[in-house]
Amino acid sequence: MVETLALGAIARVELHRIVIVGGGAGGLELATRLGDTLGRRRRASVTLIDRHRSHVWKPKLHEIAAGSMDLDEHDLNYFAQAHWHHFQFRAGEMVGLDRAAREVLVAPFVDDEGRAVTTAQRIGYDTLVIAVGSQSNDFGTPGVAQHAMKLETADDARRFNRRLVNAAIRAHEQPGEPRTHRLRVAIIGAGATGVELSAELHRTTRELIAYGLDRIDPDKDLELHLIEAAPRVLPALPERFSAATQRLLEELGVRVHTGARVDEVLAHAVRLADGREIEAELVVWAAGVKAADALKDLGGLETNRINQLVVEPTLRTTRDADVFALGDCAACPWPEKGGLVPPRAQAAHQQATHMVAQIRRRLRGQPLKEYRYRDFGSLVSLGEFSTVGTMMGGLVRGSLFIEGRFARLMYMSLYKLHEYALHGFWKMALNTLARLITRRTEPRVKLH
Ligand SMILES: Cc1cc2nc3c(=O)[nH]c(=O)nc-3n(C[C@H](O)[C@H](O)[C@H](O)COP(=O)(O)OP(=O)(O)OC[C@H]3O[C@@H](n4cnc5c(N)ncnc54)[C@H](O)[C@@H]3O)c2cc1C
Repeated sequence: MVETLALGAIARVELHRIVIVGGGAGGLELATRLGDTLGRRRRASVTLIDRHRSHVWKPKLHEIAAGSMDLDEHDLNYFAQAHWHHFQFRAGEMVGLDRAAREVLVAPFVDDEGRAVTTAQRIGYDTLVIAVGSQSNDFGTPGVAQHAMKLETADDARRFNRRLVNAAIRAHEQPGEPRTHRLRVAIIGAGATGVELSAELHRTTRELIAYGLDRIDPDKDLELHLIEAAPRVLPALPERFSAATQRLLEELGVRVHTGARVDEVLAHAVRLADGREIEAELVVWAAGVKAADALKDLGGLETNRINQLVVEPTLRTTRDADVFALGDCAACPWPEKGGLVPPRAQAAHQQATHMVAQIRRRLRGQPLKEYRYRDFGSLVSLGEFSTVGTMMGGLVRGSLFIEGRFARLMYMSLYKLHEYALHGFWKMALNTLARLITRRTEPRVKLH
């Protein structure tokens, strides 16, 4: 009895409290690795807060939306992960920060039916890491909020998939010829997400026909429009990249509109600045990202014009030595390019790895080290047709254009790295094997 009390007292008084808000590509890797080391050895308490109860790696969302990936195989329950990796999980949305009291303010967690599961909480920290990611930026374009879908969460992706399948059934059921109800999808934004979604949709809508929707003629009844304001697709990547990608998309029948600025999204169409209207039953907004508006007023921390928390190269926020930020929500300098580290999964992964070492240094009272982004290139998957991209950084000198199977392998390895960080080698390998086996025996398109 005495021992329990004594242990309880020591744990309460002495353990350094590390709190991570956001269990995404960066935050969940960080919580897992800190839990496995400091948490397991009782050297610190590690708590993860997320507004959802399970994690999905965001670069997989377009595959869930198109129906080529089964969400159930890839989502990871935070409570289970916390149990296996010695950290605590608290469900709820961070809505404020009391820096004087060193407490994160978390809103009540409400279930799908609107019932409160937890009450409002204040969670104390000694070290806080904010990793709440980003969301799409509609730049105030009229009609986007009402009529366009976004791909930010697993629920968004599932909802898109349901609407896609319903639109396909509607087109199939339509009596007589000529058919007026075509299946038309407009994707606004030809960055990596828009391009990958177009290619994935091209494939899966054709596979839907195998489910008995055989009155649809994909070449006549299916229209996929990819709309981009810049003069080329993938505007953030080298020009050669864009040309190869556009050629591949057009070979697939995707109608690519470049230099086309969207003025308004209507109920069944997209209106361009030049007055043209592109009709579509489904519109996806995938142009630009920003951090959540709520970060703008978060405890007086410094933010930039897209609400990212401004951090020093050590990932420490500029106004509070106990608060760090990483991933998409952090404005982290990239001195080699004179700009900021781009919002990418590989940056979140690298920063999580850097943060593990930073926290250990902090606990030992050692000075922090600066983070340097290593750009290993960019890869864009065009479904099963191809993968194109550049490889750079430590792997090759300068930048090398790659395409085909090797590029596909490199693309898949990014996700494998994430799975490895969350589960270790054996579970990652066994999961991969299990998926390969079930893929051969199950239907290819998932209907959510
Ligand atoms: C469709 C799509 C495709 C992409 N494809 C690629 C790709 O191919 N390659 C690539 O490098 N990058 C890609 N990205 C970008 C990549 O997903 C992000 O850069 C990466 O996920 C950022 O990681 P993060 O940890 O900063 O945030 P996220 O992974 O977005 O995680 C943020 C977490 O914070 C939680 N959260 C948010 N707000 C709160 C709050 N207030 N309180 C509590 N929890 C909160 C969220 O629920 C989420 O779990 C893609 C993004 C999308 C949307």
